[in-house]
Amino acid sequence: MNEIQELYQQVILDHNKNPRNFGELPQHSHYAEGHNPLCGDHIDVYLDIENDIIKDLRFVGAGCAISKASASIMTTLLKGKNVAEARELFHEFHKIVTTDIQQNIDELDLGKLAVFCGVREFPARVKCASLAWHTLIQALDNAQNSKN
Ligand code: ZN
Repeated sequence: MNEIQELYQQVILDHNKNPRNFGELPQHSHYAEGHNPLCGDHIDVYLDIENDIIKDLRFVGAGCAISKASASIMTTLLKGKNVAEARELFHEFHKIVTTDIQQNIDELDLGKLAVFCGVREFPARVKCASLAWHTLIQALDNAQNSKN
């Protein structure tokens, strides 16, 4: 494992141990729940969107380290973004984790998303890492799907 990969692994372990924005968000405009049957990961995503801006978002999750860390990192990236920017980040994330490992990605262009390059090493984990993101898109698409 090279230094960069080691760094990514540390970031993932840290977010798994100390997940950011973890917990329910009682006042939310958008909600969805996601499930990854292959691994048993389960995630609820809550968003508070006002005037197209993600004012706040939180998640509750039970599952493997990668699914939880990915959700945690996602929440830190999306707070304050507008909905279009959030969808754009999802597309970039998706591109990263589905790009063949043999193919070079310019990691400097990716900013904080670069941590997900490490996921490509573990194809079986791509669904774990993607769960939060797919749940996010589901929540955005189901505007009326509030839990309350
Ligand atoms: Zn998992």
